[in-house]
Amino acid sequence: MEDLVRELAVDKHARYIVSVEKRKDDFESVVMEHLRMNGAYWGLTTLDILGKLDMVDPDEVITWVMSCQHESGGFAGNIGHDPHILYTLSAVQVLALFDKLDVLDTDKVSNWYNTFHIMFCLIYKVDVAGLQNEDGSFSGDMWGEIDTRFSYIAINSLSLLHRLDKINVEKAVKYIVSCKNVDGGFGCTPGAESHAGQIFCCIAALAITGSLHHVDKDLLGWWLCERQVKSGGLNGRPEKLPDVCYSWWVLSSLIMIDRVHWIDKKKLIKFILDCQDKENGGISDRPDDAVDVFHTYFGVAGLSLLEFPGLKPIDPAYALPVDVVNRIFFGG
Ligand SMILES: [Zn+2]
Repeated sequence: MEDLVRELAVDKHARYIVSVEKRKDDFESVVMEHLRMNGAYWGLTTLDILGKLDMVDPDEVITWVMSCQHESGGFAGNIGHDPHILYTLSAVQVLALFDKLDVLDTDKVSNWYNTFHIMFCLIYKVDVAGLQNEDGSFSGDMWGEIDTRFSYIAINSLSLLHRLDKINVEKAVKYIVSCKNVDGGFGCTPGAESHAGQIFCCIAALAITGSLHHVDKDLLGWWLCERQVKSGGLNGRPEKLPDVCYSWWVLSSLIMIDRVHWIDKKKLIKFILDCQDKENGGISDRPDDAVDVFHTYFGVAGLSLLEFPGLKPIDPAYALPVDVVNRIFFGG
């Protein structure tokens, strides 16, 4: 491991993240414009894991985050955009990173009610979609991709806010369990193909709600560890190319079901390190591709899950540094 430690370009990655945050008009910032809130979460969490969160001004970040809050209570991806549950989770996570969740408590209670209401409606819609899918009235693609993701997002953010009692957890868990497949994995709707990203959402939601007993850990563990290809990287489905972001989806799932020792950790570390831009910082999906904040986050978070020396440990279910999660739930 010693030889690998020196290979992680910590300072360059930190400088890359800060520079992306500051750039306004190149390709990546245009693409990121509407989902800046997600970008902020990826970038700032990466900085925290690298031990470099002090490179940004917390007040500046918090002021910007709060200016993205819609009057309904939900958060938008950027100032002046529409609120969405995806950005609301990112906003809550960013505030949690800076220990500023109390900024939200000073807000009007009605705002909160509306945020919860939006989340509840989304979960409810997920349930309806599930039922309709079972009787065949909806195609898997129409609702695919998004449903178990929404379940996870709602459960994660409400749990961070200590408001899990605002939703029907039993019903949400039941829906997730109905998406379980014979290969042990989970799809986006009942009967849909297992996919690593979807498996992460389902396993993390089950972990947060204390429902992991619904998972066949050996069967799922086998499917997940088969995602490792020759180069050491992980793919999301059989026959697909490896991609650094799966270091997160697959690894965190393996950790939550206690089967991470079934993959070759050293080879995966090597693969992630090979995806670095060692000159300008940042991590790409595969060696020699262009870097972006998304894959930089998943690469660094993956290394953290692999207990790479010098990095803060990250919680596999909440996708936040362990010390942040502990602060929220144990005040420590
Ligand atoms: Zn990717």
